[in-house]
Amino acid sequence: MIKKLSAALAGCTMFASALAATPALAEGEVNIYSYRQPELIQPLLDAFKAETGISANVIFLNKGLVERIATEGENSPADVILTVDIGRLQGAEDAGVTAPLESEAINANIPAQYRDPDNNWFGVTTRGRVVYASSERFAQDAITYEELADPKWKGKICTRDGQHAYNIGLFASMIAHHGAQETEAWLAGLKENLARKPNGNDRAQAKAIFAGECDLAIGNSYYVGLMQTNEKEPEQKEWAKAIKVLFPNSQDRGTHVNISGMALAKHAPNKENAVKLMEFLASPKAQEIYAEQVFEYPVAPGASASEIVKGFGEIKPDTLPLAKIAENRKLASELVDRVGYNNGPTN
Ligand code: FE
Repeated sequence: MIKKLSAALAGCTMFASALAATPALAEGEVNIYSYRQPELIQPLLDAFKAETGISANVIFLNKGLVERIATEGENSPADVILTVDIGRLQGAEDAGVTAPLESEAINANIPAQYRDPDNNWFGVTTRGRVVYASSERFAQDAITYEELADPKWKGKICTRDGQHAYNIGLFASMIAHHGAQETEAWLAGLKENLARKPNGNDRAQAKAIFAGECDLAIGNSYYVGLMQTNEKEPEQKEWAKAIKVLFPNSQDRGTHVNISGMALAKHAPNKENAVKLMEFLASPKAQEIYAEQVFEYPVAPGASASEIVKGFGEIKPDTLPLAKIAENRKLASELVDRVGYNNGPTN
């Protein structure tokens, strides 16, 4: 991990100097701590540089981002945090490494449901937690999350670990809509419908449908785009072909979505540039560039998803504020344990 990080820093001399005693105060710079891979955000940063002249330095981390900023304290070179999932965004706020930002420009482009009520985090794009259904073996073209607990599908459903942040977000939304008791019963029903113990990542669930192990799975929408276009592992294109995307609850409250977002770092040494970058990232144009890179949905009114993403079908996002999901995550995690979700079906 340390080796990887110093290699990343070596490739970025200005940033490396920023990590020495004094933070980078040079004009024309901004430092991003990112859980998103640099190549995914580079097109955006190029567009930002072209528009403002400000160079963005990216430090990519795959874990410990918040802990790192906390340890760096007041000397942290971090200006902007980019990450995915409400759990991580709220986690950054809870750890005290973010600062609130009141920006009319941002608020105009990011609907309130995707923003922290205290303005510590902002969702720039969304991903649906959808149902992958066998295109050969599953006749229905619509579904609800509630239905996934119906005994008619015993042994037909595959999911990843119930404690994974993506599932916790969905389960937290169920608590927000139905309360804890009903959600616990639902989770117990879903568990009994599993074809096997929860296992693998979202793409592995599509693979399991391809392999005939299950007919239904829960997965994030963007993985369908990633599988469809995967030239490095073309077998994933076959997994994508084996499934159709169903957007749960399209007929009522809408499909649960989670966010990819940003936050201002508490001790941002280049705060002015950080705000410029965040306002840029919130702009409809930047949202569309980013959304296209990562197969997600821009949140700005009027901004549209890429052709590939539109190809999955129409999404109607649940309007539940992400802050409500953040509030219910802990309880969701407790319910997962209480029903023994990760033990798989009883028989
Ligand atoms: Fe993911």
